[in-house]
Amino acid sequence: MDKKKLVMIGNGMAGVRTMEEIIKIAPDAFDITIFGKEPHPNYNRIKLSTLLQGDTTFDDIIMNPLDWYEKNNIQLYIGEAVTKIDIAEKSIFTEKGRRVEFDELIIATGSDSFILPIPGADKEGVTGFRDIQDCEMMIKVAKKYKKAAVIGGGLLGLEAARGLLNLGMDVDVIHLMPDLMERQLDPIAASMLKKELESQGMNFLMEKQTVEILGDDHVMGLRFKDGSEIEADLVVMAIGISANMAMAKTSGIYVNRGIVVNDFMETSAANVYAVGECAEHREIVYGLVAPLYEQGKVLANRLCGKETAPYEGSVTGTGLKVSGVDLFSAGEILDDSATKSIKVHNEFDGVYKKIVIRENRISGIVLYGDTKDSTKLFRMLTKREDVSGMTSVSILQSVDSGGEENIAAMPDDELVCGCNGVTKGSIVEAIRTQGLTSVDQVSSCTNAGRSCGRCKPMVGKILAHTLGNSFNAALQKTSLCGCTTLTRDEVVAEIKEKGLTSIKEIMNVLEWKNEEGCTKCRPALNYYLGMIYMDEYKDDRDSRLVNEKMHANIQKDGTYSVVPRMYGGVTTAEDLKKIAEVAEKYDVPLVKLTGGQRIGLFGVKKEDLPGIWDELDMPSGYAYGKTLRTVKTCVGAQFCRYGTQDSMSLGIELEKKFERLDTPHKVKMGVSACPRNCAESGIKDIGVVGIDGGWEIYVAGNGGVDLRAGDLLCTVKTQDDVMEMAGAYLQYYRETASYLERTSKWLDRVGLKHVQEILADKQTRKALNVRLDKTLEKYIEPWNEAIQNEQIQDKYYKTLKLVDMLKN
Ligand SMILES: Cc1cc2nc3c(=O)[nH]c(=O)nc-3n(C[C@H](O)[C@H](O)[C@H](O)COP(=O)(O)OP(=O)(O)OC[C@H]3O[C@@H](n4cnc5c(N)ncnc54)[C@H](O)[C@@H]3O)c2cc1C
Ligand code: SF4
Repeated sequence: MDKKKLVMIGNGMAGVRTMEEIIKIAPDAFDITIFGKEPHPNYNRIKLSTLLQGDTTFDDIIMNPLDWYEKNNIQLYIGEAVTKIDIAEKSIFTEKGRRVEFDELIIATGSDSFILPIPGADKEGVTGFRDIQDCEMMIKVAKKYKKAAVIGGGLLGLEAARGLLNLGMDVDVIHLMPDLMERQLDPIAASMLKKELESQGMNFLMEKQTVEILGDDHVMGLRFKDGSEIEADLVVMAIGISANMAMAKTSGIYVNRGIVVNDFMETSAANVYAVGECAEHREIVYGLVAPLYEQGKVLANRLCGKETAPYEGSVTGTGLKVSGVDLFSAGEILDDSATKSIKVHNEFDGVYKKIVIRENRISGIVLYGDTKDSTKLFRMLTKREDVSGMTSVSILQSVDSGGEENIAAMPDDELVCGCNGVTKGSIVEAIRTQGLTSVDQVSSCTNAGRSCGRCKPMVGKILAHTLGNSFNAALQKTSLCGCTTLTRDEVVAEIKEKGLTSIKEIMNVLEWKNEEGCTKCRPALNYYLGMIYMDEYKDDRDSRLVNEKMHANIQKDGTYSVVPRMYGGVTTAEDLKKIAEVAEKYDVPLVKLTGGQRIGLFGVKKEDLPGIWDELDMPSGYAYGKTLRTVKTCVGAQFCRYGTQDSMSLGIELEKKFERLDTPHKVKMGVSACPRNCAESGIKDIGVVGIDGGWEIYVAGNGGVDLRAGDLLCTVKTQDDVMEMAGAYLQYYRETASYLERTSKWLDRVGLKHVQEILADKQTRKALNVRLDKTLEKYIEPWNEAIQNEQIQDKYYKTLKLVDMLKN
């Protein structure tokens, strides 16, 4: 029977969660196609605040990597917006002229930041706070300018303001109302919050209505209704969101404040559904993930023909993701004549609790400064427990709900992860039946902690309680990934001991929970096998991360970059001519000098890759790989009057020797011919500095997010000594680091002294270099291989579905 064609518009949190549910229930029921306007796979939008605040990276917030779509046979078109729905013809049309038919259509287009319709709102430097692009823009502006204004003192506004403070900006928060977060906090809690945020450096302008944004092309300030003005180089509008429903409306689907749906997420058009922030259910448009995930579950059941209870609406609870602020709020927060409330205000400890009671049931909660009881109280609120028999003390009793006795006393149906609706009972069951030993495993198995992450400490406590005595031992180890309880070291030891030679065999013998593995363990196992069986192991290209698989970096618009090798940053007129000719012939949109002293061609079309590689006839610079990237050099003694050593020739020798070597993470090197250090050797994984009569070798430097100056490993006399020491160091790192562990983190973990002791022994150095040389023998130039091999071209550069989609 032909599969039904299921199309989804929107590749965000609610939509993709719905797809996950569908795939769980009926993996083969549909041919699935997803369109996403943003050029990214599904990421955790909730974590944008932490991203802006510098506490996480983009890679860390990706929830469904590109491989996930591929593995589940989903046609994904990212960076491509759907512009029209033809209900009668059951088709959608995209901005790129594509037409796709559907049997069932899910609209999951989320919402946009609401931008105040005031003069100047279209100026450069004005943004909402909704997606990666907004964050990138704020980060960019913060590098150049100093003064930021955030309009809106609600949840998003305050999280954005905290992020901008972290980016070094002066931040004014402008709020229309007299109290911050007035929909979640009563005046007492709001004033406590304001005081705390002021102490963190935020400046508040309350009861101000912005009427104009000032400036020429770029924003320069704000004018308020009372005539006053402030200066600003960046304006973030965080005053609310508006559902993305215009397309649904023009196609004839009934909309109000959102796309109107019934209790099964069905819109007014047959076979068309809406889920997430774009949907209006019983006159409510939700803006938090917990209800949206509930909607997704009901819709998935409905589409798969599984009996399901209707979605009847949700009660939501919120917190604020700003460090130093502990806050929880749910339900109604202000009293009226029919409510009574219990309040505790401890000004010494900065704690405030308010429980609103209506008709003997908790109808609202405000907790500030101590939110330990939020889970218990929220359960009482959602379950509508009768509290008439309880005293105010027992309702508000400040128990350490994370303590051992309280975990034991927690009922099984108590909600632990509010975002994903995961109860204590289901966590305990998963731990017991699946043999889970880490919080990450519990997360990937049950979804608990997979969204805002606030419940992770509680998940850890439940884990400790459930595992009892065995927990301490388990705590010591971080498993390779959610597919196994074994650590990296245990897996490597088992591979060696049992002589396991393929990824499949490892997964079978070591009883992997997921027989196909996941995107975390497959590339790691491929690396460990290559490291252990240095000359025999046949690389499993399909297990590599996508850029390595393609030998090119996918750019955010789906095109690629081509960065040829330029050993030691040295080039020739002939190579420059070739690059220029290729750039012209293939209409390459951007030719750019990279930070690693090479020339990059950016915006290359996938089908042009083999042709470009052929005509360049230069080796790959591996700008995409977990391997040696570049060796940056200064001009050194050959030309510079300060130079004491020949940095260029050493740099070229290092790069020629170690290029293509698989390493746990990328490795960068630098060689400077004197301590003036023009090649920035102090922030490289291996940095060499020329001194009178020799070379200093610095290690574990890092110029990226985790800035770290290199440590002096040793001083040596000759260029050959540098080669020997660098080889031994690299091989020791290869053999002992976890996959995706940079040298900076690895050295901090194992200790400089330990590595110095290992490498001080001549025999050990020699043995390490022998293993390294053996490994290096097996590598072949990948671009050349692709040009020569039609099978590779067909598989990776012509037919790979996902890549086709990214390209188009
Ligand atoms: C900074 C920030 C912090 C947050 N913090 C929390 C929190 O702490 N707790 C919480 O529960 N929630 C939080 N949220 C809200 C939460 O992220 C949203 O509720 C959730 O992402 C909504 O999911 P969705 O799928 O409906 O919409 P989205 O995640 O916005 O996904 C919709 C996607 O559809 C795409 N799209 C739109 N139109 C089209 C089109 N025509 N064609 C193709 N694609 C289209 C959009 O580009 C977008 O990628 C936060 C949100 C932000 C921005
Ligand atoms: S590091 Fe020293 S030798 Fe090299 S270019 Fe700079 S000043 Fe000259």
